[in-house]
Amino acid sequence: MNKKLRLYNTLTRKKEGFKEINDMKVGLYTCGPTVYNFAHIGNLRTYIFEDVLRRVLEYNGYKVNHVMNITDVGHLTSDADEGEDKMEKGAAREKKSVWDIAKEYEETFFNDLEELNIEMPHAKPKATDHITDQMELIQKLEEKGFTYKTSDGIYFDTSKLKDYGKLAKLDIAGLEEGARVEKNPEKKNVTDFALWKFSPKDSKREMEWDSPWGTGFPGWHLECSAMSTKFLGQPFDIHAGGVDHVPVHHTNEIAQSEAAADKAMANYWLHGEFLIMDKAKMAKSKGEFVTLDVLKEKGFHPLTYRYFCLGAHYRKKLNFSWRALEGAENALKKLYAAIYDYDDPTEVDTTYKEKFVAHINNDLDMPGVLALMWELVKSDMESSKKLATLYEFDKVLGLSIRDEFEKDEEEKAEIPDTIITLAEQRQMARDEKEWNAADDLRIQIEKKGYSIEDTKDGWDLKKK
Ligand code: AMP
Ligand code: ZN
Repeated sequence: MNKKLRLYNTLTRKKEGFKEINDMKVGLYTCGPTVYNFAHIGNLRTYIFEDVLRRVLEYNGYKVNHVMNITDVGHLTSDADEGEDKMEKGAAREKKSVWDIAKEYEETFFNDLEELNIEMPHAKPKATDHITDQMELIQKLEEKGFTYKTSDGIYFDTSKLKDYGKLAKLDIAGLEEGARVEKNPEKKNVTDFALWKFSPKDSKREMEWDSPWGTGFPGWHLECSAMSTKFLGQPFDIHAGGVDHVPVHHTNEIAQSEAAADKAMANYWLHGEFLIMDKAKMAKSKGEFVTLDVLKEKGFHPLTYRYFCLGAHYRKKLNFSWRALEGAENALKKLYAAIYDYDDPTEVDTTYKEKFVAHINNDLDMPGVLALMWELVKSDMESSKKLATLYEFDKVLGLSIRDEFEKDEEEKAEIPDTIITLAEQRQMARDEKEWNAADDLRIQIEKKGYSIEDTKDGWDLKKK
């Protein structure tokens, strides 16, 4: 038992002392991406929060077994198991096979994680590789009387589970009342959800499987129940995801797993709040979203986005704006500039380390860590000790402080790729005679601390 680490558990709505199931080991399951499009920076905020969680557990000495699923099938556009299949829609948009887009977007997703210094999960099971496990889970639920059949699939009867909706503290009666008009008439309760959907009779799906119930595909909550148990056992320690998963996805994962095995699914449930842009939650389905590539094209270093996210507590909404991102970039640059002048690291300052541990163990208080970090940088401690202490903080911050310090003079003077990208875009704008766009790009380059001169072969960039 670690009496010091306290985490906010959505199940109890309280900060609780963390107690692992197996001595100094933690099973951690985080819901992964649906690979039909790029991850947007809202999604990435959630993965950064989960990375901080994992690093804090590791900092406390736990051996973490981290599993993240890849949803590559059967994820419909609405939470109510209706609408189009996101994967098939993505494939049609790009005129590729579902399997191809899944592979491509999985790759870009893990590249994004790497650029954000997010530690890789130990297992990344794909839904399509675990269809049999999912069918076995349905069979178990069927044997225990939790399922019924409708014309379009096999459903979970939520009224059979006495504490259905406990995670979200759902008001089931209120939901029934409000949903009368739109409720699928074949569903017994408004909260019932599909375990298996039948393929449409008049068309062939790219992804479908034969099953004891008919050809079709699994419901989207099923993979997490099946794969978390397979990889981590039941119960396991911590399940995390974005806050939107509380009322439906995680509620239904809990229903399936607990109905099947008569025991808790996971002991701690942690949820990260949303990234907000223009007063609305950023969402993939709306089609207007900012990706990490967009940030890079605008000349931002990926770690600027990590720094930006660390500035807000994970349970608070975070407003995204370009100006706020510029603020994060300036701060990160200031940090790097400060450490360039430091002496080689010696020993870690114990007072600062204690304060650091108190912050991270207080439900991952990263804004507190950033404030402490600046207090340290501004203090009159010898620089060698400051650096050693910053290396310690960076085990959780993940801002590449050591890599920056160890860069040689030549590397430090190198023009970053992000600035070169801006220069290339400016050149393109000039070639197209888009003078205003070219001017804007020059201003962006100058704001980032570089000057650009045109030469007969192209351009010359210099650090100001
Ligand atoms: P998805 O690929 O849509 O299943 O989402 C992947 C993860 O991102 C999930 O854990 C979501 O809860 C989370 N998420 C989705 N939108 C946002 C947002 N605007 N801000 C933060 N997290 C989000
Ligand atoms: Zn999940």
